[in-house]
Amino acid sequence: MSYTFTLIPGDGIGPEVAGAAVRVLQATGVEIEWEVQHAGAETLGLEGNALPDKVLDAIRRTKVALKGPAGTPIGTGHRSINVELRKRLDLYANLRPVATLPGVKSRYDGVDLVVVRENTEDLYSGLEHVVVPGVVESIKVITEKASTRIARYAFEYARTHGRKRITSVHKANIMKLSDGLFLDCCRKVATGFPEITYDELIVDNCCMQLVLDPTRFDMLLLENLYGDIVSDLCAGFIGGLGMAPGANIGEEAAIFEAVHGSAPDIAGKNLANPIALILSATLLLDHIGEHQAADRVRAAVNAVLREGKKLTRDLGGTAGTTEVAEAIAAAVQPA
Ligand code: NAD
Repeated sequence: MSYTFTLIPGDGIGPEVAGAAVRVLQATGVEIEWEVQHAGAETLGLEGNALPDKVLDAIRRTKVALKGPAGTPIGTGHRSINVELRKRLDLYANLRPVATLPGVKSRYDGVDLVVVRENTEDLYSGLEHVVVPGVVESIKVITEKASTRIARYAFEYARTHGRKRITSVHKANIMKLSDGLFLDCCRKVATGFPEITYDELIVDNCCMQLVLDPTRFDMLLLENLYGDIVSDLCAGFIGGLGMAPGANIGEEAAIFEAVHGSAPDIAGKNLANPIALILSATLLLDHIGEHQAADRVRAAVNAVLREGKKLTRDLGGTAGTTEVAEAIAAAVQPA
């Protein structure tokens, strides 16, 4: 069987890590033809639009995309195309597994948790305005529909992946209505999954407990903003952003991308760690049912990490992005 998927290289280190992930996927023997589409800050400069319609059309058609990070200006300029893609394609579930990898030095061992983040609303609704000069409002939108949908996604994921516990993370002591609604929806969904333990933590306490001992957690279920922040925190448990994969999943399409951004500080220098996007590509393979190929890529990543000879700078090595990709591709066992 052969597939046609969309490839969005993105900005900064995006093209480097996307090239690396494509190289490793090629080594699995799964036949994927890539339809390359451009979006992001550089595309804005070239085409006057950071997210041309043809990109959305391509993803709707191919249903699956692998994406490098896209840059967004801070405090000014165009809206995030990452947020825009998730909203326009209704990619409501952001799945971010965080698991200790062999040979990678970090402060913790045995971390194996999954972050499930609502991906379409909350403070990312983009509703901001100046009330009067010096006073700005940003509107946090939480709906029953989106909260129930993400909770159901998390519980169904737990059921199919043998996870035992889901912790909802909130600030309903302060945002009693919005976070209160989110919790109500989670609690209702939880009653349909009696085999999965359900509990709740206030977000600040959750961060403290995570840093004390992340191995106590199984799955975290969060609104959009808390999920964004907590997933970067969790990336720190397994060696940093270079190791943390992600997926944005909807009913009609899915986009696979790392947790990290475009890392302008190291872009174009062959320094980026490609493992986060390579592991995101394993989520893509799982999504299309190519589990055996996904397992072979994970085994190859683990073999290269365990050997410790081809590592990028963030992991204490001196290898470049392309060398790491070649080493992982060479370690992929035949089907
Ligand atoms: P960042 O994730 O790009 O970088 C944070 C730090 O981690 C930097 O020091 C960077 O060098 C390092 N880092 C990130 N990825 C790495 C990798 N693969 N290998 C080695 N080191 C890596 O976060 P930022 O600097 O806050 O954001 C930069 C830009 O990326 C911003 O424009 C932001 O909007 C965008 N962004 C995009 C996405 C996305 O496309 N999904 C996600 C987050 C941030």
